[in-house]
Amino acid sequence: MNTILQIPSNGVILLEFSYLLAAIFFVVGLKFLSHPDSARKGNLWAAAGMLLAMFTTMFLHKDAETMEGIKSANLVIILVAIAVGSVVGAIIARKIKMTAMPQLVSFFNASGGAASALVALIEFSNPDNQSALVTLLGLVIGAIAFSGSMIAYGKLNGNIKDIFAKWMSYINLLFMFAVIAGVIFLMVTDAPVETQQIMVYILLAIALIYGVTFVMPIGGADMPVVISLLNSFTGIAAAMAGFIYQNQAMILGGIFVGAAGMILTLLMCKAMNRSLLNVIIGAFGGGGAASDREAGTVKEVSVTDAAVLLSYSSKVVIVPGYGLAVAQAQHVCNEMEKLLEENGVEVKYAIHPVAGRMPGHMNVLLAEADVPYDKLVEMDEINPDMPNTDVVVVIGANDVVNPAALDEPSSPIYGMPIIKAHEAKNIIVMKRGMGKGYAAIENFLFYDEKTRMLFGNAKDSLQKLVTEIKSL
Ligand code: NDP
Repeated sequence: MNTILQIPSNGVILLEFSYLLAAIFFVVGLKFLSHPDSARKGNLWAAAGMLLAMFTTMFLHKDAETMEGIKSANLVIILVAIAVGSVVGAIIARKIKMTAMPQLVSFFNASGGAASALVALIEFSNPDNQSALVTLLGLVIGAIAFSGSMIAYGKLNGNIKDIFAKWMSYINLLFMFAVIAGVIFLMVTDAPVETQQIMVYILLAIALIYGVTFVMPIGGADMPVVISLLNSFTGIAAAMAGFIYQNQAMILGGIFVGAAGMILTLLMCKAMNRSLLNVIIGAFGGGGAASDREAGTVKEVSVTDAAVLLSYSSKVVIVPGYGLAVAQAQHVCNEMEKLLEENGVEVKYAIHPVAGRMPGHMNVLLAEADVPYDKLVEMDEINPDMPNTDVVVVIGANDVVNPAALDEPSSPIYGMPIIKAHEAKNIIVMKRGMGKGYAAIENFLFYDEKTRMLFGNAKDSLQKLVTEIKSL
């Protein structure tokens, strides 16, 4: 039987109070998320806030016109959908490999964008909806976040390659103006409702295509900026959906995600020497001419020689990169660091803002191995110390130590700040072979006079180094 849920007389006050409580949970969660040690706790706080907001909305919300609660049949559908979504989400999150985490984040981001766009699409035709501008903005921003994040997902997965051409920035501008023009047109038109509904679908299609063309050409080292921008878009779209329903918890949650994503985007832009306008127009960072520099010869180092060099140094800097995450070598890396410290060597980690495949990837990875946070030194802070460093050990990093960013104007990563490993007295690079990094360009650091390559899977090489250092 499809009964209507009875809401207690003080339901509205209880609901408002629960939203206030949920907002406090979100803020506390965000605070905890700002440090790797407390990040897990932060996630739980924010999730608890969301759970509270969801359940109080289901059981205490009254329709503004009828002043009635939700129909029991709808409640059952919502609860079943939540149960199915939670089980699927939990299984995916449990099974996912740490290195595939960035793809998963992009996928979740896409889902958030799609949900907000669908809310806007349905509510546009609702005659009671008074907020046309907010609805249209929710639609286009949600659609761009959805299709853009799906392309980012494919790129991080390695299924989609960058398609870069200078003219793509003009196409992007064209689509951007088409989206703005579509929103303005629908705001002012007095065309029949049916025509407006067709126009909304056309606008949705243009926004979806813009999401694709906007992310498609972005390559090289610039993906992280785009990923955090798309994340911010998802938050803004969710906030718009909250405005449509006049739901404070949704507005607040969306604004928190949107603002946090935007702050991260601006910080990443600053760290990468890029302007936000470039990111929005797109078509930057990809392509670039191939280097005409002559590659020299590569010199290898034996495990024994590397162990001796490291053990008798006074200052060692480890530069972790994506390969460290692939090899899951963070624990054995920590073991090597401790052994060296027992031998009186000062060891620090140099953290590049875009090392790995997601913002903060290296911090999370090393925190997992209980590396004390004060050992992780930001790029700007560690670079001046590089000339005084006896050995830099580059473990599975490539683009973030590529000197082409400093001295090759034709390089796609030119202008990106790097960790200046090439300034150290000795450089040991651990990687499996001569494979390129994410930006798919040559790295002349590997041919440097001072560089010695220790080829092999990072975990195996580190394990061998640990055994060798112990036996010295
Ligand atoms: P890179 O992707 O530039 O290089 C990683 C290197 O690791 C490869 O050259 C590979 O060489 C080596 N490697 C892979 N697997 C192993 C293994 N098992 N053992 C040892 N080595 C291994 O990594 P960086 O961290 O230097 O740079 C990150 C790049 O990713 C930047 O270009 C950044 O812009 C981009 N990016 C970053 C995001 C972020 O948010 N942080 C998001 C999206 C992209 P080989 O095959 O020879 O072993």
